[in-house]
Amino acid sequence: AAKRAGRNGYQAFNPEMQRAMSMRVRLSQALRDAVQAGQLRLHYQPIVELASGRVRKAEALLRWEHPEFGEVSPAAFIPIAEDCGSIHCIGDWVFERAACQAARWRSRFGTDFQVSINVSPRQFQAGGRDFGRWLERLGELGLDGSMLALEITETLLMDTDQAIADKLAQFRAAGVQIALDDFGTGYSSLAYLKEFRIDYLKIDRTFVRDMTPDSKSFLLSEAIVTMAHRLGLKVIAEGVETPQQYALLERIGCDYFQGYLFSRPLPEDAFEGLLRSASCEAVCP
Ligand code: C2E
Ligand code: MG
Ligand code: MG
Ligand code: MG
Repeated sequence: AAKRAGRNGYQAFNPEMQRAMSMRVRLSQALRDAVQAGQLRLHYQPIVELASGRVRKAEALLRWEHPEFGEVSPAAFIPIAEDCGSIHCIGDWVFERAACQAARWRSRFGTDFQVSINVSPRQFQAGGRDFGRWLERLGELGLDGSMLALEITETLLMDTDQAIADKLAQFRAAGVQIALDDFGTGYSSLAYLKEFRIDYLKIDRTFVRDMTPDSKSFLLSEAIVTMAHRLGLKVIAEGVETPQQYALLERIGCDYFQGYLFSRPLPEDAFEGLLRSASCEAVCP
């Protein structure tokens, strides 16, 4: 790398970075058309209640299949969409699609089935959406607010803008539930839990990944569950891949889990198929 940086130490214009930058520009241009061109899809990952072994919720996860670039990961394109402003249009599309799906699934799986969507902090910020339209739309679809959950991150709560707190309150007043995603990875300030009304904490995948009986990840997860329950919140563990991780989560009284152990995120039809046939007993003893 030092050699590539050249004798004068200039990094800025090495060919690799130039390629990365031009790729970013091309992706942001392509993103602007992605909604119109019908290149976006939502996949749904089942969220299982540990106590009953039943699928109670689904997290909607965005997929982008570009004709030239192929499948682009949301971890790669969401930050670009945030920077170039496309996130607003994409976020509206995600909401519309997930809300319609929730309305369809209501008749099949009952009214306590919940779909969650990920919402970027940018969507809440100045120049962002008037979520009043989203709430109207829930009404038009005849959906209870509680059939929808928003997955937000701590970054959003760190912003002291009162408008953000107001928008969150507006959702909660309509019955929409709020999940704090990737919990444990950021500052994890407890002040947020004091200040905002949150319904779920999602224990980040990195904790679950490192979970063994003696690990700090396990002890911290246990502490998170205890704290959450004392505050009246439910806990969802993400990224559960092994029966060992599952057993430890059960031991500490975690409420829900999602992960490859039970299922990867699936296209709509496959999700429905799984729910019709699924018995969690195969993976969750
Ligand atoms: P996230 O919200 O924390 O979503 C969880 C990620 O973990 C998803 O990655 C999911 O596919 C993956 N995952 C689930 N179970 C397992 C497992 O057992 N093992 C492993 N290794 N991974 C697992 P994905 O779908 O690539 O999404 C990445 C991130 O992109 C999401 O993290 C979220 O922050 C963002 N994202 C996805 N869809 C949307 C969206 O519609 N809007 C916004 N604003 N962000 C989104
Ligand atoms: Mg999420
Ligand atoms: Mg997460
Ligand atoms: Mg994550």
